[in-house]
Amino acid sequence: MPDVSEAAIDTIVIGGGLHGLSASLHLARAGRRVVVLERSWVGRHASSSSAAGVRTLNRDLAELPISLESQDMWHNIEAIVGSDCGFRAYGQVNVAEHPKHVAVLEKRLALTRAAGYTHEELIDRAELTRLIPAISSHCVAALIVRTDGAADPHLTLRAFRRSAESAGVTIHEGYGVTAIERVGSDWQVHADGRSFVAPTVVNAAGAWAGDIAAMLGDDIPLGHKASMMIVTERIAPLLKPVVSVVGRPLSFKQSDQGTLVIGGGLQGSADIQAQKSFVDFSELAKGARAATDLFPSVGPLRIVRTWAGMEGKTDDHLPVVGPSPTASGVYHAFGFSGHGFQLVPVVGAILADLIVHGGTNRCIEALSADRLMARRPAA
Ligand SMILES: Cc1cc2nc3c(=O)[nH]c(=O)nc-3n(C[C@H](O)[C@H](O)[C@H](O)COP(=O)(O)OP(=O)(O)OC[C@H]3O[C@@H](n4cnc5c(N)ncnc54)[C@H](O)[C@@H]3O)c2cc1C
Repeated sequence: MPDVSEAAIDTIVIGGGLHGLSASLHLARAGRRVVVLERSWVGRHASSSSAAGVRTLNRDLAELPISLESQDMWHNIEAIVGSDCGFRAYGQVNVAEHPKHVAVLEKRLALTRAAGYTHEELIDRAELTRLIPAISSHCVAALIVRTDGAADPHLTLRAFRRSAESAGVTIHEGYGVTAIERVGSDWQVHADGRSFVAPTVVNAAGAWAGDIAAMLGDDIPLGHKASMMIVTERIAPLLKPVVSVVGRPLSFKQSDQGTLVIGGGLQGSADIQAQKSFVDFSELAKGARAATDLFPSVGPLRIVRTWAGMEGKTDDHLPVVGPSPTASGVYHAFGFSGHGFQLVPVVGAILADLIVHGGTNRCIEALSADRLMARRPAA
């Protein structure tokens, strides 16, 4: 017998990262009774280790429509979750260090313009230096989205959690889902000695979402990433926009506290079963080198912290967002492949559309689980 009755719950959300929280918040606001099951604690994995870049710049065109809507939501985030989440819209710039890299930026600009988008803009060295005086003079141009920016992952987690709980969501931490079975038209979810029953399940289990999908009957291939970050000591204001660079793994920004936060997708390693990730210092040195090449004045700074965070990665680096192709009442939201923080507000709204209204006007066709399942070679 389940000890949490089906009458009490409409939806079980598996995973208490930002996507699980956002889905639960939107569902609860739509009147659904929602339980979140989190194996460790809220924000334990990718969501708390995130660089929290809020970036539409250089997004895959397949996810750009929802990314742009999410950007509008970030600009209105205080009205949604009662906190600004530390979101600062100081822009994101993708810098060309060499004249040959300008062609990469021009090609990208042509692609987005041809698709009808105007949010990206090519700027010359003079404008780049005006916006970021500290940048090395060898940089020649950049692509910019002036309304992009970055947030604080911890403030964001706290705000989404508080809003979800205020809307009536129950969050169970320390409840790892170990098995799921069909009981009539419901799902019975077993987690650390308890069971929960509901007609609808949201799979937002991050790097472990492939295992949860398999428990629900979906064989969706999912790899993983272990992206690394560096934080330096605090310094006086150096720059406002978030800087990335063509051809090198770098994301470089300054937090409100004055620390420099350096990432950009450099990979450490992960033991997914043990839920542990490891920093690879020789790889990390490449990020430090790119940072000091672009900002020579930061060379003498001390690094105070490094880490690696785990998250699911799909073959095409696009997330899976939508209903299960095979199991009724099952919805997936995972595989964000290193860029899911920005999508948090809109993906929760999409899941609420799908679950409450049975469909969505938002453009998610390219994010279906089918596309990955079809690529799995026959056994
Ligand atoms: C270092 C780093 C930097 C990043 N930088 C950016 C960035 O600048 N911009 C951007 O847009 N994105 C960025 N990302 C990506 C972004 O952080 C993630 O896409 C996003 O946080 C994913 O959220 P999530 O809720 O899907 O996953 P998670 O936060 O990982 O949450 C999944 C949760 O599911 C739980 N879980 C797993 N299995 C079970 C189970 N069996 N039972 C119960 N619970 C379970 C886990 O414990 C975990 O808490 C970055 C990621 C990393 C790691």
